[in-house]
Amino acid sequence: MPTIKHTRVAAALLLTLFWFGHNAKALGTDSIHTLINSTSEEKRLEVILSSTEKILNRYPDQAIVYAQRALELAQKQNDLSGVAQAQLLLAKAEYITGQYSPALDNLELAHEYYKSKNDSTLLVESYQLYANIFTRIGDFKNAISYIQNAIAIAVSRNNRPMLANATRELGNIYFYFGENAMALDFFQKSLNISEQSKNKEGIAKAYNNMGRLFAEQGRHNTALDYLKKSLQVKDKDSDRASYGNTMLNIGAVYYSSKEYQRAVNYYEEARLLFASVNNMEGVANALYHLGNAYTNMKRYNQAIAMYNQSGDIASQINSLRLLVSINQGMSNVYEIIGDHRKALEFLHRYISLRDSVFSQDQSRQLVELETRYQLHTKQRQIELLSKEKALKESEQTRVRIWITLLIMVAVLMMLLSYFTYSRFRFKSKVNEKLMGEITHREKVEKELNDYQNQLEDLVEERTLELKIAKEKAEEADKLKTSFLANMSHEIRTPMNAIVGFSYLLTDKESAEEAKSEYVKIIKSNSEVLMNLINDILDISIIEAGQLRTKNKPVDLESVLNELKTFFAQEIDKLPNKKLYIESDYDTNCSNVTVSTDAIRLRQILSNLLWNALKFTPEGTITLGYRLSGNDSIIFFVKDTGVGIEPNKHEVIFERFSKFSNNAEASLYSGTGLGLAICKELVNALQGSIWVDSYPDKGSTFYFTIPYVAEESIKIAENKPKANLNINKLKGKTILVAEDVESNYKLIEAFLAKANVNILWAKDGLQAINKLRDNPDTDIIVMDIQMPVLDGLNALKNIRKLNQSVPVIFNTAFYREEERDICLAAGCTDYMSKPIRKEDLLEKLIQHIG
Ligand code: ADP
Repeated sequence: MPTIKHTRVAAALLLTLFWFGHNAKALGTDSIHTLINSTSEEKRLEVILSSTEKILNRYPDQAIVYAQRALELAQKQNDLSGVAQAQLLLAKAEYITGQYSPALDNLELAHEYYKSKNDSTLLVESYQLYANIFTRIGDFKNAISYIQNAIAIAVSRNNRPMLANATRELGNIYFYFGENAMALDFFQKSLNISEQSKNKEGIAKAYNNMGRLFAEQGRHNTALDYLKKSLQVKDKDSDRASYGNTMLNIGAVYYSSKEYQRAVNYYEEARLLFASVNNMEGVANALYHLGNAYTNMKRYNQAIAMYNQSGDIASQINSLRLLVSINQGMSNVYEIIGDHRKALEFLHRYISLRDSVFSQDQSRQLVELETRYQLHTKQRQIELLSKEKALKESEQTRVRIWITLLIMVAVLMMLLSYFTYSRFRFKSKVNEKLMGEITHREKVEKELNDYQNQLEDLVEERTLELKIAKEKAEEADKLKTSFLANMSHEIRTPMNAIVGFSYLLTDKESAEEAKSEYVKIIKSNSEVLMNLINDILDISIIEAGQLRTKNKPVDLESVLNELKTFFAQEIDKLPNKKLYIESDYDTNCSNVTVSTDAIRLRQILSNLLWNALKFTPEGTITLGYRLSGNDSIIFFVKDTGVGIEPNKHEVIFERFSKFSNNAEASLYSGTGLGLAICKELVNALQGSIWVDSYPDKGSTFYFTIPYVAEESIKIAENKPKANLNINKLKGKTILVAEDVESNYKLIEAFLAKANVNILWAKDGLQAINKLRDNPDTDIIVMDIQMPVLDGLNALKNIRKLNQSVPVIFNTAFYREEERDICLAAGCTDYMSKPIRKEDLLEKLIQHIG
């Protein structure tokens, strides 16, 4: 038996070595050799050590050679660290090749050194190796002890790959104990740790272990899944022993499911892989499994051959566990093939070996009880640490997530606030703009409303004004209509008298004594007509806005006395009236001289006195004035006449206002213009006019003018009338320039008894020629308005011929200014039409008499 066994072992080794030598050359151990030789002495040890490490798993035998060379070199160099490294490498290589005893020796030497140096990494590595070796040789007590040490250091250093390895190794131990659930738990933990640290080797090993366990449990498919996963992760070339292990396990799965040929294939492949790295335990294991498979395939000789080969190697490597199994297998085969002697022989061997292992198991179980508690504690510790770590990590992750979330929230808030703010700004701007527009619109609307209101007010005002104007216009129209009717009456009445009595004068049948009466009537009606025309002319001037006043110093008492005298004469002409006129002057200011327009003042007073005369059948007319304060004078004309209704006190100052009372209208002649003219004249003199009256109680008309005191001068108002001695004109030559023959004839008639030579020129040019022909002409009486050449232009030429001849203008113009125009043109004097005989004679005597 030993002969056969040794021959087989030698053959297997030879085969292995051949294979190894062939491949080692192909894979470049030569190049390592070259590299080492080409390296300097100092670096050589380092290079040998690192090269050995690299080829360790693949060429463990070569690794042993190089490691021994490194050891020698290190010892020579007295490099203790180098020695320890070389010893550890030797131990590793020897473990792979199943040389557990020398492996333990070398490991112990290295381990001592690492302990003294307290090199934790290498310590864990050495503990791990110890545990592996003790597990393989079935010394679980030591295995557990070392694995505990390894775990303790791995945990304290937080070395994940080592922790994964140690955890997995624990699983393996449980697996050997038959504690499958615990084993699976540790394998799973180991897998998790390796996955977390992305340790491919660790992952692959965990998958492998788990697969083996599932196979043991008969969960074939799951086992195959895990084992194939393990193969996928593993690199066939770099770790052949490990790959071979998995192949062996897959084979075992097929074996369990009675697919023996498949199992054989895997076993064979595994055997070759183990052999390629000279892993003798692996080879022995593969051979044993092949034996089992062949037995079941009833290929008993092959089975026995396999068991023999396996047994030889197991003996060589002192693998009692395997030897127990092999002997059992052998006993079984011989039993089947009917060789009972051999069957019994192997059964004996089996039992004695099993018993020795069993006794180990006994002590192992004792240790187990002792260590299970510790393992459990360690396991808890690992779990707690992992949990703590996981917690820490999850806490850190949570904190990171929170921080990230917070940052995101902050950024979002900022963005949101920015957008909100932008939106707010935008909205505000839009609102502002809208508000602006609304305000503007409101303003515009308000303005429009105001305008509308204003317009409405204006329209209302204008409507009112228009209404008033319309009413006024209607009133004016009415007044004008009544004025026209009235005027017609007023003009026709005196005209009727004048025309009628003029006719009677020429009537041969009229008695001579009656004729003087007719002339009187004609004369008085002519005066009435003249006054009427003057009123109309005055109101026309006022209407045209041409009313002008010219202030001069005026002696009030003289003017008033003159009027009083005149009106006393007029009253005398009315013998039917028991009327008296008297004056009432302010005694405080007698002989007052004021600056005013005397003509206009006389005109106002005269109008008022005429009305008083007209509307007072009997009684007294009082003419007077008073000083009012220091700056105005109040004039008054008071009568004891018919009086005026209070409601008519204002309307009587309107133009054309005349009582509509027919009875009164027929009673009193008048145009309704007198008081209107008075009012305008008083206004022009910067005063005011009003009435105080009551029917049958008489009336008092008041008006004011500003009191502007003047030096008391007696002007020519009261100059003595020229003595009308017409003899003074005898023999004088008078040139009369007058285009209207009747007017010329009137002048001729006025001068009939004066014995003068009268020359008649019918226009301005004739006048010039007549003067040239009659240079002895004494005076010229000339009309202004004439055909061919008017009076003013004729005068200019006359003055060129004769500087001294007096020229009296005879004008029908009414306006005051015209007197100034005439005088400015160079005339000597002027007369207003209608010319009175007295006025003409007086002027002629004055200038040539
Ligand atoms: P007339 O030319 O018609 O007199 P006035 O304007 O002078 O016009 O007067 C207007 C009216 O005032 C008269 O028609 C008359 O009714 C009234 N009136 C004027 N003066 C007097 C007065 N002294 N006494 C009574 N009524 C008068």
